[in-house]
Amino acid sequence: MTIDEIPKVELHCHLDGIPDPEMVRDIRADDSAFPIRPEDFDGLYPVADFDGFIGWWRVVESVVGKLEHFHAVLAHYINRLKQDRVVYAEVMISGSEIPVDLVEAVEQVGVFRAAAQQQAGGDLQIEFLAAFGRGKSPEQVEGVAERIFALYEAGLVVGVALAGVEPGNPVRPYQKTFERFHEAGLGIEIHAGEWCGPESGWDALEHGFPDRIGHGVRLFQDEKLIETIAERGIHIEMCPTSNLKTGSIERIEDHPIRLARDMGLSFSINTDDPGPFECSMGSECRLLSEMFGFVEADFRTIYAHSLAARFQKVLTIEDA
Ligand SMILES: [Zn+2]
Repeated sequence: MTIDEIPKVELHCHLDGIPDPEMVRDIRADDSAFPIRPEDFDGLYPVADFDGFIGWWRVVESVVGKLEHFHAVLAHYINRLKQDRVVYAEVMISGSEIPVDLVEAVEQVGVFRAAAQQQAGGDLQIEFLAAFGRGKSPEQVEGVAERIFALYEAGLVVGVALAGVEPGNPVRPYQKTFERFHEAGLGIEIHAGEWCGPESGWDALEHGFPDRIGHGVRLFQDEKLIETIAERGIHIEMCPTSNLKTGSIERIEDHPIRLARDMGLSFSINTDDPGPFECSMGSECRLLSEMFGFVEADFRTIYAHSLAARFQKVLTIEDA
């Protein structure tokens, strides 16, 4: 079986990290009013470091906060996922794309989810997480949580993700809110160890009740922490190309994904922001095959671990 044919699961992809020039060109062919033009990205590719990522972000910012513009983005992404034989995906909708009014939030995300499900058809199951950034006050996070609970109770999202600026913004002040997420049964994902060391991983474990850790690259500096993550059955969402492009790691050879495989940890392969990072589920798998010698048996194990770590327990696709 070739890499393209192996079934895949993506658990870590930001909706507002998807657009790229080719996709925008295709979207505008159908809808000339789409606010981003392919030439807006001129000079920004390849995104080579964190500053480059911020430059890319300034372009995409023109659609941020307007969920209606992401219908076409997601439709194109769903087609790409199918081409890469992704059978299950969870996509993060950022808090800025979720209306503040609870009724409006449920209505808009409901329409969005229904359109995505229809587009996905029977080959791919697509689910959503509500994401928000670190650095907010605990009161602001409580406000965001009300919208997330409303979406969860309406069956529109299966979990919550904490992203944003990691240095100087621990999870601890949000412990009460995360306790509520946990008690209500939402899946909890926390980005940690992308920019900070093990102390950020311990902070997430102690105060955020995570089922999954996003990135986690720098957590491997602490053996005890990795042991604890394994003991608690916490899954790590690995995003190799993203880590290289943003400078979270210096060289792809330094990525701990091979170590994670050798230790038998539960981890997935993900694109994070496929738009700026010019990656896909297929290209990430090829990279791991070329750089680290991953073989079909490894991808099969990763598939099984990723599917087991999903937040939607009801499967509508056949487990490949
Ligand atoms: Zn992310």
